[in-house]
Amino acid sequence: MTLAPVTTRFAPAPTGRLHLGHLANAIYVWGLARRLGGRVLLRIEDHDRQRCRPEHESALLDDLDRLGIAADEPSTDDLRRGPSMFRQSDNHEAYEVGIERLSIAAQIYACDCSRSTFAAWREQHGQAWSGPGCPGSCMARELEPRPDLGLRVALGDGDERWDDLLVGTQSGPVAPDGDVLVRDRNGIWTYALCVVVDDLRHDVDLVVRGEDLLDSTAAQIRLGALLGRPAPARFAHHPLVRREDGSKLSKADGATAVGELLDRGQSVDELIGEAAHRVGLTPSPDPLPFVRAIDLAAAAGEIRG
Ligand SMILES: [Zn+2]
Repeated sequence: MTLAPVTTRFAPAPTGRLHLGHLANAIYVWGLARRLGGRVLLRIEDHDRQRCRPEHESALLDDLDRLGIAADEPSTDDLRRGPSMFRQSDNHEAYEVGIERLSIAAQIYACDCSRSTFAAWREQHGQAWSGPGCPGSCMARELEPRPDLGLRVALGDGDERWDDLLVGTQSGPVAPDGDVLVRDRNGIWTYALCVVVDDLRHDVDLVVRGEDLLDSTAAQIRLGALLGRPAPARFAHHPLVRREDGSKLSKADGATAVGELLDRGQSVDELIGEAAHRVGLTPSPDPLPFVRAIDLAAAAGEIRG
């Protein structure tokens, strides 16, 4: 069987140091790219200008170099040199254009619901808001858009279905907890909008990421269609790196920061082996070269052409 070449991406957010969770993601990204004869883009997902810091990006690029993990495009030096189409904060216009395009295909509305609006709804109704809209009925209220109001896209009702390369056939509601928020109340474009716009403009057709994002996939498939994607990207959701006690690893988990572990004398292969083991690719956390780890990841799923 001949498989069509794919483009995928490794897309860390510079909110802290590169950690073992990123390494596990890299193993799957490069693994599936290799299996499908594809290429890997490096994207800096710093849409959240309140949480992302240039010094974190700089450390992240250094960590990738130390690990010897290189994307096909761009190089870490390309990103160090200045503005790039692969850094979200350099491409605000792309998201403005995305919103304009979305507004032709769907209704976009200002929303003044806060966390406490959602909490009050839950309190009053005994369950969280689910389905299209928002608890404040903001679409019907036709609020004047303002920088301190959120923006939502009416995605409609129903589900999207996809054949996940790693976890099989999936489907989910496009509005699991309200219409998708594309700009938050701080005027920041959301992850949901930015990744869909970026995957389209970067010709990404394979999205490899952690299982914690399964619930947002249906909305992203619908957003992509509304933005004019001729076909949805393919998705592959892999297990998350967990702490030894099984709890979820947080981005702020300094104990697993790659740079610090290397500084303490651990080898690259030891870190790769640890990350591969923590997502169940190996029975024990023995040192493992990256090329061997990505072979294991490539073989892990039911890969369809
Ligand atoms: Zn609202």
